[in-house]
Amino acid sequence: MKVARFYAPGDVRIEQAPEPEPGPDELKLRVRNCSACGTDLKIYRHGHHHIDPPRVLGHEIAGEVVATGGGTTGFTPGDRVQVIAAIPCGECAVCKRGRPSVCPDQRSMGYHFDGGFAEHVIVPENVLRVDGVTAIPDGVGFDEASVAEPLACVLNGQ
Ligand SMILES: [Zn+2]
Ligand SMILES: [Zn+2]
Repeated sequence: MKVARFYAPGDVRIEQAPEPEPGPDELKLRVRNCSACGTDLKIYRHGHHHIDPPRVLGHEIAGEVVATGGGTTGFTPGDRVQVIAAIPCGECAVCKRGRPSVCPDQRSMGYHFDGGFAEHVIVPENVLRVDGVTAIPDGVGFDEASVAEPLACVLNGQ
């Protein structure tokens, strides 16, 4: 499959990569839309202290479930879904107080895990554990669903 992989500031390569298969408690999605936001541009220009390259970028992910790993429940191939970008740990005191958006141990798709600038992406167990895969309602496109994260940033900012 084709991926866009970050190697260093100014060095993002379109490459062929083996198609990933989901392990236990993971999902495999066919990426139908992965938007680029200002952070992607910042990473492209300057890198990011949470990215240890090489890394497939892309964290505004919407797609279709194509395979489920053992142990997952509630997902079926063909489901249209959107994936959270920032992944709270779900375990710390802040998360337990119901404030996962400010979890100090957040990880992110496209930073700690290969992201959605690819034909397929693996949704890691960390995302499923915190209920970070959302069904896309009928009438909402993959393009619209993929910008749920920037919209959430705006709402949180307000
Ligand atoms: Zn973003
Ligand atoms: Zn936490």
